[in-house]
Amino acid sequence: MITFCSLYSGSSGNAIYIASEKTKILIDCGVSGKKIAASLASIDIDAKDIDAILVTHEHRDHCHAVGIMSRRYDIPIYANSTTWEQMDTTIGAIKPHNRRCMNTDSMFDIRDIGIRAFDIPHDAAEPVGYNFHVKDTKVTLATDIGHVSPKLTRYLEGSKLILLESNHDVEMLKSGAYPYYLKQRILSDKGHLSNEAAGDLAAHLAGKGTSHFILGHLSRENNFPQLAYQTVFNAFTAKQMKVGKDVLLEVAERETVSKVYQL
Ligand SMILES: [Zn+2]
Ligand SMILES: [Zn+2]
Repeated sequence: MITFCSLYSGSSGNAIYIASEKTKILIDCGVSGKKIAASLASIDIDAKDIDAILVTHEHRDHCHAVGIMSRRYDIPIYANSTTWEQMDTTIGAIKPHNRRCMNTDSMFDIRDIGIRAFDIPHDAAEPVGYNFHVKDTKVTLATDIGHVSPKLTRYLEGSKLILLESNHDVEMLKSGAYPYYLKQRILSDKGHLSNEAAGDLAAHLAGKGTSHFILGHLSRENNFPQLAYQTVFNAFTAKQMKVGKDVLLEVAERETVSKVYQL
């Protein structure tokens, strides 16, 4: 069985909890250590029982409290070597036994969870998403995605549950207050995934076995939870799939712990 819970999701900070019967993992710590420990406590998890922290990339909304959590609770941190180089200057000193290096695109295990970090198109040094395998169940975390490529799609297919980025509404972003360079950055091939692109991808993945869709990493300025939900809902409807019957669709809230999914 896999347990999955979004603790924080959005451009202001991300932290995800995933566990098997034997293993408890955090992915990213993009808000304060206190907030992460409190959100874990709200789902009856003690932060000192976390076995590992996985890092997707060095942006602050993902690794702000990675060092704090590791030092406070003696937790090993896993990241690829390029990400280690980038975040080493910001996360503070990490004990040698808690520095773990993994390679993008190869499988590794943390106890009974099989893990693959796969590369994602985003403007960081070597950003990744993650697949988690427990027995026959696959769960995927895929946010901070500039565009959808066939290679990326293959990594996502076959996931029972996916936390998928639905960052912005393109029209809201274009007509909004962000400066031009920032709009271009977000819209670029290495920026963030729009609601429309998330909808197309979600409809495709539903045809490949995904039943649980959690939309995440929403922009505060260029999106609304209802708008992200409706856009992806419409993409399912266009393919004759019924939300609530064929697929489950939810939006991960920015500051509120999601449902605890057990698959
Ligand atoms: Zn990022
Ligand atoms: Zn991010």
